[in-house]
Order: sequence, then structure tokens, then C-alpha cells
Amino acid sequence: MADIIQLLPDHVANQIAAGEVVQRPASVVKELLENAIDAGANSIKLIVKDAGKTLVQVIDDGKGMSTTDARLSFERHATSKIRTADDLFLLNTKGFRGEALASIAAIAHVELKTKQEQDEVGTSIEIEGSNVVSQEMVVTPQGTSIAVKNLFFNIPARRNFLKSDTVELRHVIDEFHRVALAHPNISFSLYNNGSETFNLPVSNYRQRIVNIFGNKTNEKLVPVEEETEVLKISGFVGKPEFAKRTRGEQYFFVNNRFIKSAYLNHAISSAYEGLLKNGTHASYFLNLEVDPKTIDINIHPTKTEIKFDDEHTLYALLRSAVKHSLGQFNIAPVLDFDRDANLDTPYHISKDRVNVPKIEVDKGFNPFREEKKSFTSTMSYKKEPTAGWESLYQEIEVKNDNIESDFSDHKFESEVSTGTIFEEDKKIDNGNTTYQLHNKYIVSTIKSGMLVIDQFRAHQRILYEDFLQHITISKAVSQQLLFPLELHFTKQETDIISNLKEELESTGFIFSSILEETMQITGVPVGVPESEVSIILEQLISDIENEVPDSHFSTTDLLAKSMAKSLAIKPGQSILKEEQEHLVNKLFACKEPNVSPTNRTTFITMTVDELDKKFR
Ligand code: ADP
Ligand code: MG
Repeated sequence: MADIIQLLPDHVANQIAAGEVVQRPASVVKELLENAIDAGANSIKLIVKDAGKTLVQVIDDGKGMSTTDARLSFERHATSKIRTADDLFLLNTKGFRGEALASIAAIAHVELKTKQEQDEVGTSIEIEGSNVVSQEMVVTPQGTSIAVKNLFFNIPARRNFLKSDTVELRHVIDEFHRVALAHPNISFSLYNNGSETFNLPVSNYRQRIVNIFGNKTNEKLVPVEEETEVLKISGFVGKPEFAKRTRGEQYFFVNNRFIKSAYLNHAISSAYEGLLKNGTHASYFLNLEVDPKTIDINIHPTKTEIKFDDEHTLYALLRSAVKHSLGQFNIAPVLDFDRDANLDTPYHISKDRVNVPKIEVDKGFNPFREEKKSFTSTMSYKKEPTAGWESLYQEIEVKNDNIESDFSDHKFESEVSTGTIFEEDKKIDNGNTTYQLHNKYIVSTIKSGMLVIDQFRAHQRILYEDFLQHITISKAVSQQLLFPLELHFTKQETDIISNLKEELESTGFIFSSILEETMQITGVPVGVPESEVSIILEQLISDIENEVPDSHFSTTDLLAKSMAKSLAIKPGQSILKEEQEHLVNKLFACKEPNVSPTNRTTFITMTVDELDKKFR
């Protein structure tokens, strides 16, 4: 048989390698910014258009390249940064693989302009899909400008895989933040679609953080400093009371390189133990300096993971340094969090909490309140003073009765369980036919047998349809706040909110002003407690930023989903019997009761036949 193995042509090999290096515009941003830093730049400008899909350009004032180097830089494994494998252990540059430019040039249109200080003129090179289209001498300032246009122009499948501009821009900004945070001694700016989004002058570390995340950040930061023989830790952690619902602001840098480490993240969380509200995450901006010989950054192509020789020691040092700082700045004693009682209180306390959250949350949007006629009696939500065990016992007894009667009613019915049977008996009887299981499921009897509803998902469905209607058809009622509520976000976050202003207003929000980093709210949807507002908006921002690629979901839809998620009865929340029943009825009055807004099953049924089988 003839020989069949061939060496892949370079441009094919490069395209394949590009898959590893370049996943999205943000990957290009990372590589180009890192090259600029390696080139010793003092000032770096990043320009993106359409979230980087049409253009990512980085302009630096670094050392530039000679004509030969400029041409060579696009070859695979062409690097000025290491010469032997041993150099890998002495790295003080970001790059070392010599792969980035070759990969990028394989899948985009690239324009490079570069000049070294000592040269009169610079070099300009244009490459399209690994082919050099032009090379000439140009007049250009010292340093390098690389423009990467039309990413994935020759790989439509990859291009289609990109997410919406909002999502891709979020990734770009994340990379920009990471690099800018690691190098406060370099000035950075970011232009997005022609407007300046960030302008970060050379500054100290604290100021850099504040310039990125907003003035309000300053008061939230607690410094961390620790120096030992093996490790130097410096940076800041966030005061626990400012912890966020989303994991946004968590940054680790090892020798000025952003890394992800679940293990070290755990070290920090454990330093916060007992200080954080459930479900919130502390911010941190920490730099670790270690001997490059003791780490291996070679294990991941995009280099955000790292291997330490002695992880355990690092863990312990980090944990104690953070703990020490939190203690020293008197963080620990001022705690007065309303810890989420749902998870750790005995049942006699849990009785009290039944009325607290729901009185506020459910008032307007909660289906239980909407039909006031049937609900006036529960408006006060007084907990009946029966002892816990007694009432539990009663419920079971009553329920058993019902099951019995249901059984006898339907014993001889020959109907088998099909989707349509359920339609007929979806309305539950009045009376004690519901039961809350583990504060998570609502169990109810239906004609054909038994119904188990996931309370969180079901309530989301109900609220979601409500919100959609409010947003698209009628204006919702708004509840005026006595004092305007002032909330602080980053510039990007307020941008997201102002883009959604109209939709938010049709749910009942009233914004009296939305400035760069502050917004004032004078009205909220009826039933939304003031204390929930920032949580709802935070959740909304993070949902928008992590939006799924299917763009057939409108922002209205996203908003409705997000608010439904924030306001729905959570697992672990106990609800009154009337509420349970109302939830069941409301669910089946929905257009799509079977699934939650995110397409998860809201309920299951089990017919008597099926039960019978189990007892066979
Ligand atoms: P690596 O950074 O791993 O060496 P790259 O493909 O990113 O590989 O870059 C190849 C080479 O091109 C670098 O080693 C460097 O010599 C040169 N280079 C790239 N970007 C710049 C820049 N902005 N300024 C000066 N030289 C650069
Ligand atoms: Mg590089």
C-alpha cells in the first residue's frame, strides 16, 4: 500500500493551533496585551469594535520590532522570550510559546505596524489567513500596533459560535481588567465602538482598583500584606458586608499573571468563614510573588492555570494572611448579618420566619396576593399558634383522609395516565390537599393520583408569565419609596441597566437618575421589598452578561426570567397551606405550566396505578 502520511501545511497547522489559543475576541485581547507588556510598554491602548468581532487593536509604546523580527513574529514557535527549555523555569515574561501571533494570523486579517527606537522608519505587514498580503516601510511612532480584523473570517463555524456582543464584550473587559490590575505601573485605555470606556493612568494598586471598579470601591478594601521566605502576598480583600451575589471581583495574580485556582479561592473563602451572608462572595485582588522556579505555568495553553510545588503551604499562608487582615481591620466584631435562617435553624425558629420574607416579597407579584377575594384572610399571614408537632400530625392525618377518599372515588376508573387526564384534574380540591415536603416540593392529590411540584420552579413560571404580561401589555403598579434608594454599580453595570430602563419601568421601577456609577430609584414594583432591589438588579446584570447564545430570547424575556428567579420562593422556604394551594392553582393557570422559564420540569405526577405497581 502506498504511504499515506503527510505533513500538514503550515497554514492548516496554524488554524488547528489557533483553536487552542483563540476561542473568542477576548483571547486575542489577552495575547496582544501580554505581548505589549512583554515589550516593556508604558502605555497601552486597546480598541475594539463590535465586541472585538470586527476589530481588536492594541497600540503600545514598547520596544517594537525590527523588519526581520516583524516578519518572523508570525511564524509558529517564533519567540524572542525563551531559547532553551530551561528558560521555562526562569520566566518573567507573559508569552513564551511563540504561538499567539501565528495562530491569530491564521484566522483573521492582521495589520502590524512596528518601529524600534533606533530606526528611522518602521515596518508594516498585512496578513490574511496566514498569507502575507503586503509588507512595506512606514512612518510610525516607536512601538507596535497590531490590528486584528474580522476574526474567524475563514472559519464560519467558529464565528457563528460566538455569543452576543454583550457577552463577548464582557469577556473582553474581563481580560482587560485582569491585565490592567496586574500592572498598575502601566497606563491603559479601552475604546469600545469609538467611545472611551476606561482610562487608567499609572497609579498605585488601590487607585487602579478604584479606577476600574468605581469610587465606591475604595471604602470596601482591606489591605493584605504578608512576606515570608517562600511567598509575598500583597493586595486587598473586600469587607464582608460588601460581598456580592456574583463572583465578579475575584482576582489572583501570581507573579503578575492572572490565574484561576479553585484551591486558593477556597483558602480565601475559609478565611471569611462565618463572616459572609449565605450565597455571597467576597471580592479580592491579591498578588502572590513566588520564585518562578517553584511554579509551572506550562500546563494550560491559555495559561490561566498554574501548578505550585507546595500548594499546602500557600494555602495556609494565604488563609492566615487574609484572616489576619480581616481581624486587624476590626471586621469580625461588627457582624450583624441576618444569616439565612432557612439552612441552619431549628424548627421552632423557622416558624417565625414564615411570615417575614413573604409579607414583603409576595405582595404584588406573588400570585397568592393577586386574587385578594380569596385571600384576605392570609394577608396578615399570622402563624397559627399550634405546636409544631401537633400541626404536623394533623396535616398528615387530614391528608391521609383525602388520599383515602380519592382512592375510593377513582378505584374503578379505567383511565390510564396520559397527558390529557392531567389537564382535567389539574385543579386541586379545596381543603387540606397540599403538603410541603422538605420546604422544597408541594405534594398534592389529584384525581388520577399524586402531584409533586417543585416550588421554586413553579413559582418562577408564574412570576415569569406575570412579568412578561406587565412588560409587554400593561404598565405595572409602582410603589413609591419614602426616600430614594441610591445604588452603586460600575460604569458597565449601569450601562446595562440604562439599556433596560424602559422595560424595567414597565415592571414598576422608577429611576430618578442613572449616572455613571450611581443610580437613584424612587419607585419599585409593588411587592418588591426595598432590600431586594439591589439583589434583583445584580442578578439581572449577571444574567445579561452571561446570556445564552440563542439570540431569539429578547431582553424583555431575560428580564422577566431574571426577576422571576430573584423573587420566586426559594427551596428551603416554608409556605402556608393557602399559599401552597394558590401556587398550584396559579401554576395550572399558566400558559406553559409544565416547565420553568428555563425549561426545567415544574412538576411530576404519579398515578394510583403507578403507585399500585410499586406496592406489588
Ligand atoms: P510569544 O509572546 O509567546 O513569544 P507571540 O506569537 O505572542 O509569542 O509573539 C511572537 C514574538 O513577536 C514575541 O516573542 C515578540 O518577540 C514579538 N512581539 C509580539 N508582539 C510584540 C509587541 N507588541 N512588541 C514587540 N514585540 C512583539
Ligand atoms: Mg505572546
